[in-house]
Parts: sequence; C-alpha cells; structure tokens
Amino acid sequence: MAVDPSYSRLAEFLAEVVNLRRVAALAYWDQQTMMPKAGAEARGNHLAVLNKIAHEKFTSPEVGRLLEGLRGYEASLPYESDEASTVRVARREYEKAVKLPPDLVVRLSRAESEGFGVWLQAREAKDYRVFRPALERLYGLMREVTDVLGYEEHPLDALLDQSEPGMKAREVEALFSELRESLVPLCQAIFARCGAVDDAVVRQEFPEAGQMAAGREAAEAIGFDLTTRGRLDLSVHPFTTSFSPNDARITTKIDERYLVTSLYACIHEAGHGTYEQGVPARLEQSILGDGASGGVHESQSLLWENVVGRSHGFCEFLYPRLARHFPAQLAGVPLETFYRAVNKVQPSFIRVDADEVTYNLHVMIRWELEKAVFDGKLDLRDLAEAWNAKFRDYLGITPPDDLEGVLQDIHWTGGFGASFASYTIGHVSCQQLYQKAKQDIPGLEDGFGMGEFRPLLQWMNRNVHAWGAKLTPQELLERATGRPLDAGPYLAYIRGKFKGIYGK
Ligand code: ZN
Repeated sequence: MAVDPSYSRLAEFLAEVVNLRRVAALAYWDQQTMMPKAGAEARGNHLAVLNKIAHEKFTSPEVGRLLEGLRGYEASLPYESDEASTVRVARREYEKAVKLPPDLVVRLSRAESEGFGVWLQAREAKDYRVFRPALERLYGLMREVTDVLGYEEHPLDALLDQSEPGMKAREVEALFSELRESLVPLCQAIFARCGAVDDAVVRQEFPEAGQMAAGREAAEAIGFDLTTRGRLDLSVHPFTTSFSPNDARITTKIDERYLVTSLYACIHEAGHGTYEQGVPARLEQSILGDGASGGVHESQSLLWENVVGRSHGFCEFLYPRLARHFPAQLAGVPLETFYRAVNKVQPSFIRVDADEVTYNLHVMIRWELEKAVFDGKLDLRDLAEAWNAKFRDYLGITPPDDLEGVLQDIHWTGGFGASFASYTIGHVSCQQLYQKAKQDIPGLEDGFGMGEFRPLLQWMNRNVHAWGAKLTPQELLERATGRPLDAGPYLAYIRGKFKGIYGK
C-alpha cells in the first residue's frame, strides 16, 4: 500500500521532536557526567528551552489534524506495522501532551534542574531539610500535572501511565501486597542466618582503575558494544541514555572498598544498554525508537545484573577475569566464596546496592511513602522520619543520616511519584521472560560458564528489543511469554536460589 502523504508529514514532525529530545538527553548526560558544578544554572536554561520547543512542536495543531486524518489509514494497516504503531503511539502521547500547558512544562524542567543542584548540596550536608523546599516545589508541580492529565481512581495513575502505559496504582498495590506477604518472612528467616555468608572478599581495597577495567569487561561480555556504539563514564548515580542505537551511554559509580557496587552497576546499565542498542536502526528517527516502558527496561537490566550476573555460571566465567585485575585481593579465594559473597542477603540502606531479595522492599518503602504523600497522610516535612521508620519496620535498621536514607536517589529531583514501581515490575517480568527463553533455548545456562550469552541476548533482541516502543508493557509481555504480569515465577526463583545459599 502507498504511504499516505499525511503520514509522511507526521513522520517528519515526529523526527524533529525525537531529535530535539535526543539533544536534551545529551545535555542531561553531560550534566551528570562532565559538567562543572557552576554550569548548573545555564544548563537548566538549555534544557528548559529544548524541552519547551520539543513540546510546542509535538503539540502543534497540525500534529493533531494529521493524527485525526490518519485514523482510516491506521485502521487499514496491521496493528504491529511501523506505520499503524507510529500513529497509535503518537496519538496516545499527543493526547497527554496537549493537556500540559507549555508554562508548566518549562516550570517543571527548571524545577528539575534546580532540584538536582539542591539535592547535591543536601547530600553534601547530609541533611534532608536542605532539599525539602525543592521537593515541595516539585511535588506541587506533580500535583498540577496529575490534575491536568486527569485520572479515574488515584492521582498516581496519571504519573504511573508516563512510565508504565496503562498500569494503575491499584495493580501496583496488588503486586506489592503479594510480594510483601512472601518477602517479609523470607527476609526475616535469612537475616537470622546472616552469618552463613561472608562477603569479606568483595570488601577490600579495589582501586578505581581496576574496577573500571573490570566493569568494561563485564559489560562487553554480555553483549553491550563499547567499541563503536557505546561509552562508559562515571556519575553520582549510575544511569543509561542513548541518542540512537549506535550511541548508547552507560555510567557507573565507584566505591573503592566494595567491589560489587560498580561491577554490578556496569552489568545492570549494560543490560539497559543492550536494549538501547537492540532497537531496530530503521526506527531511529521515529517515535518508536525507544523502549516499551521503565519496567520493561528494568527487566533487561535486572536480567543481566541478577539472573545472569549473579548466577553460578556467570561467576565461573567472570571470576578468573576479575582475578587478573585484582590478583592480590583475590589470590587463593575460591570461586564459591565469591559466588556466595555477591549473593549475600542483608538489611542495607542503599537501594542500588541491595540484594535481589531485599531490593523490592526498598522499592515498596518508596511506593508506600509516595502514596501516603499523595493521599495527604504524610507531610513532606516528615518524610525523612517516615523513611527511617519504614526501614526499621521492614529491614530492622535505621539509616545513620539522610545521605544513606531519604537523599540517596536522584529520582525525586525529577518529580515525585510512581517511577520506582518500574523496578519491581522489572524484577517480576524479567523472570517471566527468562523462563520462556529457557524453554525456547535448550541448555541455555550450560554456556554461561564459557561466556556464551549470545543466545539469550538474541532471544531478547527478537522478543523484546525488536518491538521498540510499539507495544504497551502488557502487550509485550503477553506476546513474549503468553501471560500477563505474574509475581509467581519471580517468587519461585527467589525461594529456590536462596534456599540453595542459606539453606532456608
Ligand atoms: Zn535500571
């Protein structure tokens, strides 16, 4: 069928919007990695202008007219075609974007840039009270956003829809109650046997240069291309961004006295990076040249970080390579000691360092706090105390200061609400995807010890990455696994694996 001229016009518009967003992402990457501190204010202006122009372009009346006129063309094409998907996804985003007044977009962008600067100051002072006014401003703006976007049941639905299209706060609540019921008693049983795993081997002096080299090696081993299509740099908070499938950037942060932080951050971010590099090149200038959602993105990073990266097979492959970077620290230490050390379960303060079992309790705490704020049950003045109380309740520990408590995540400098849920959705959906890949590829895990990760990456390429942003997370999961989101496989995996390590 001939391409509708209106479709070509729409695609041109969208390509401009996509390119503007990519330049904004580049400015953001620079802000997090290279920019001198004093550049913050000007960078806030750069980002505000770029976001404003992209928003104005995307919400122009012509885009609305084109989308309206293309309804028949869209209906005449297969649902999964590039063209029908472009129109469908653009319409879904357009209908949300036109509700946001341009001045709100600018105020939000400025508040986020300023919030980032204030967050850094608060971290230096280890004092939440420094950050609180910025967070209050951001929260006020998020309330404005939920009001203009609208919602049927809960204001968090409007924000959740931005990271997980179609997902409702009610569904996230149901997921957390199922997890809470199993994970809280499991954690308590394991904490009682904490001494069963000694992780002293990964808590020695590991100089930065060796850690960067080891991180690069691990990232490349799982199939993230760092040679011509990717970069690895340092930032306060590890993250991944990309400007095309041929330019994906990951970052890490180093703790010279804990090997796991950077090593597994590199594998995690490289997992995101394989998704970015795996989106088909033909979608590069299209609104579909992206991942399906935050949760689907996390399914890829957590797959490589935990399911593969913390498996016995991967450790067999990785450990001799690590020993080359750190001969003095690892000499004479058996592989089994390393495998158990990287799988140690313990109550901890920092989410990004948390193990697979306690991780979702960290997320649940944030979700419960955000929901309480939106429900008017928690004042932001009391957030730090409420944070510490939840840590006592679920993990039995109290953060020594706000830096190890409420100030640890960058997320709240980018608005307030719902984005953390994506991590738990990622943990859960990644097990569903992995179990299906194991069924489809006989002997999949047998190759891990020899560094054979390509069959798994190719399965993810075909079943996840190839879709770009065409499908909602639910549609993608159903097509890839035949089932909706289901905590069962994740809980079965956690119980089985940690019974093997802790005997409980
Ligand atoms: Zn991630």
